[in-house]
Amino acid sequence: MARALDPVIVDWLKLFNCSSCEELYSKLEQIHAEHKPVEGEHVPFSIHDIKHFNTSDRKGTTFNCMKIYWSAIKAAELIKDLRENPPKESFENPVVHQCSSDIEYSAMSTLIADVDLPGSKYNFVGHGYYSDLFFHMFFGNYSDFNEHIKKLSEQDLKKTLKKREGYPQVSPLFAPIIGRRMIHIERMSWLTEQNKRDIRMMYNGRNENKQVKILEKLLKLGADPNAHDIIGNTPLCYAALFAYDVAEKVVSTLLRYGANPNHSTQYNSILFIFCNSLASRPDQWSIIDLLLSNNAKPKDYEDAMCIRFLMEEKSSLEYAVKLREACPKKKNECERTVCAVSSVKKCGACDFVVYCTPACQKLDWKFHKPTCKKKREEKSKNSA
Ligand SMILES: [Zn+2]
Ligand SMILES: [Zn+2]
Repeated sequence: MARALDPVIVDWLKLFNCSSCEELYSKLEQIHAEHKPVEGEHVPFSIHDIKHFNTSDRKGTTFNCMKIYWSAIKAAELIKDLRENPPKESFENPVVHQCSSDIEYSAMSTLIADVDLPGSKYNFVGHGYYSDLFFHMFFGNYSDFNEHIKKLSEQDLKKTLKKREGYPQVSPLFAPIIGRRMIHIERMSWLTEQNKRDIRMMYNGRNENKQVKILEKLLKLGADPNAHDIIGNTPLCYAALFAYDVAEKVVSTLLRYGANPNHSTQYNSILFIFCNSLASRPDQWSIIDLLLSNNAKPKDYEDAMCIRFLMEEKSSLEYAVKLREACPKKKNECERTVCAVSSVKKCGACDFVVYCTPACQKLDWKFHKPTCKKKREEKSKNSA
């Protein structure tokens, strides 16, 4: 039986209008050979990286390379469009741009985050569209921020808290969250050493890095914790990507002021976004506990299975097991995450989950073992 194509590759085939992987590969090779990056653009991926399509590598290197490349193409389109049609002043949630594939969605996220860097000359898109207040919040300059808002009338303050800026159409609450990453400029692999020196020069010595304090103040003043940007991301989604060292503080503050942990974007739940971005950062896994205790749930069954897969592949056994509770399999579907076969053969030990074959049960045992033990104990307590 032919193996089903990875959904990511199906997306690529559609994006590049190809009918086979071979055709896709030669098309990409051609694009790669002809592509000449312009100053400030993302460096295109190396064709070598996508040579071997690997179905277990769903969110791996190949996907990231593709995303980066797609971002570069999209960035060029957007820059052109924005030069012709600069964003108009707005105080409302923008109409959500519906992406045609999850690659385009990822690319848009990357683009919004990486290219729309306020005030940078490497930022073609956002340059000229952000206010001074946005910069104060972005760089965590609480004194300047406070000075600015103190002067506003009650009515102007209300308006200011809703104002949308830049290509992503973000409200003020997003600024300190996105800005927190400036303290990690070294990690921004798309910037050259010269880029980094230039950016540091631009904000020389004035950064207070008090983003969390600004965030709290904005929420206290009445900023909407569930405002969303042009692709439907709320401040919680941004916290998963940019808050770095203060992510837990940002998440707990947002939740305290009413941020919805079950908001979902076109493709994913908040829970997935965090599991995805925190998979390799064990020091931050307590945020997953925080979300779960606030009743965060997957968007749908596919999202739930992606979360399980992600945690089993990349996270710890403890968290893989924990997430299974929030992401259960369908009734009578084999308990092994990557298996979709229906079965009525229950696990003999706990009588709680089903497996299609002893082989699946064996492969899944390390993840099921703790739950199996728990269920057995519950059962014997109940019958005692
Ligand atoms: Zn199975
Ligand atoms: Zn069991």
